[in-house]
Amino acid sequence: MAVLNPASEEVIANAPCADEAQLNSAVSAAHRAYSTWSARCMAERSELLRELASRLESRLMEFAKLLTQEQGMPLTRSCAEIKEAIKRIRYFALFDLAPRVLKDDDSRRIIEQRTPLGVVAAITPWNVPILLLINKVAPSLVTGNTLVIKPAPTTPLTTLLLGEVCADIFPAGVDNVITGRNELGASLTSHSNVAKIAFTGSTATGKKVMESAAGTLKRLELELGGNDPAIVLDDVDPAEIAPKIFAGAMGNSGQICFAIKRVYVHECIYDRMCEELGALARKAVVGNGLDERTEFGPLQNKSQFDRVRGLIEDARKNGTIVGEGKLPPGPGYFVAPTIVRDIADDSPLVQEEQFGPVLPILKYTNLEDAVARANATPFGLGATVWSADLDRATHVAGRIESGSVWINQVPAPNVDAPFGGAKQSGFGVELSSRGLEECTQLHVIHIAK
Ligand code: NAD
Repeated sequence: MAVLNPASEEVIANAPCADEAQLNSAVSAAHRAYSTWSARCMAERSELLRELASRLESRLMEFAKLLTQEQGMPLTRSCAEIKEAIKRIRYFALFDLAPRVLKDDDSRRIIEQRTPLGVVAAITPWNVPILLLINKVAPSLVTGNTLVIKPAPTTPLTTLLLGEVCADIFPAGVDNVITGRNELGASLTSHSNVAKIAFTGSTATGKKVMESAAGTLKRLELELGGNDPAIVLDDVDPAEIAPKIFAGAMGNSGQICFAIKRVYVHECIYDRMCEELGALARKAVVGNGLDERTEFGPLQNKSQFDRVRGLIEDARKNGTIVGEGKLPPGPGYFVAPTIVRDIADDSPLVQEEQFGPVLPILKYTNLEDAVARANATPFGLGATVWSADLDRATHVAGRIESGSVWINQVPAPNVDAPFGGAKQSGFGVELSSRGLEECTQLHVIHIAK
């Protein structure tokens, strides 16, 4: 498969396109490796994960540059992604899943153990290829599972490089990478030797994954799309808040599942907020991620580029564009940060997940109404609330139907806190001890005394 640099539209590499037989041999290798890998103690597995973290650290710039070339993000961002991945590997290498005694009296002892599941299929999207993969790799391996990894067809290169590094550390068959088109993902999710599917991607694909997992009742973790609202209360200073909202919406050119995707602003500060956000969009520096002046890279692939441009054209007719950055000359899937005001709630830009750097700003008068409009979506991944009054903000946050809510901050998951979706943004969680437990089977032993 030809892999393009989205900043130049040039082919930078060709990745293997695995066929069904190669998929079967990857799953078989993982299946064979499982019995010895799962029998090792957790401390030994953790040691190998720490080795992986050190190797990534020593090759940080190599990974970061390749990530920018295949994904498009600015180099500072790809460095940050690899560094965060290293931090998360080390975090999961610290756990000890010792059995817990639930009851111990004269007649019985009950022990809760956590055992591995088997072969985990890790399927990832193209927006954040390495960090989202590490969220699955580190907890799966440390708990004794083996892996078959399938990256998105347009961003396979850093995952293949990670596979090379892993092959030098882990026993054969523990960590397998296969690359190919979307159909390969479908074959993997229906494979009878796969015990769990750890999937990150769109809600539409997540539904197909759920159907194909039914055959053998595979464990499922679905991290899906979002259309996260920001609710801006009447007591904030627009000049202070706007840069944070802008960063939360436009980071990685809007290609983040928990990015701010709709902003509800109280009418008393609506015009000023639109002006502040519009000014930030006009100043944005868009370009090739390898250029150190670049703040926003291209969209990752042509179909996303076409989709986001279509949403902007619709918004131009049905809303008012108050700020639009400049585009660099030449080829590349560039879309500049764009702020849209006075657009209807039922427009595609508000209803759908844009997954790009175009942000609708919506006016509200009544806070109850803003919360209802924020919740009027099948998605429920994240949300933000902005207010000078933390009690008010916390009260509003409690009423939003989502897996996470951030108050007065650029949204970002924390490795210590579980992250997962509500409603059609998926189920199951990643990160934290709960994310680790999702890679295990609950196993309760009842002993009669
Ligand atoms: P996608 O659903 O098109 O693809 C995701 C992965 O699934 C790719 O590897 C793809 O090849 C594979 N795939 C495609 N069809 C498949 C099938 N039938 N069976 C199994 N696998 C299949 O998503 P995308 O366009 O690559 O990524 C963008 C989406 O991912 C957005 O909706 C975004 O919000 C979401 N996302 C969610 C999170 C989260 O944690 N909730 C994080 C990042 C991205």
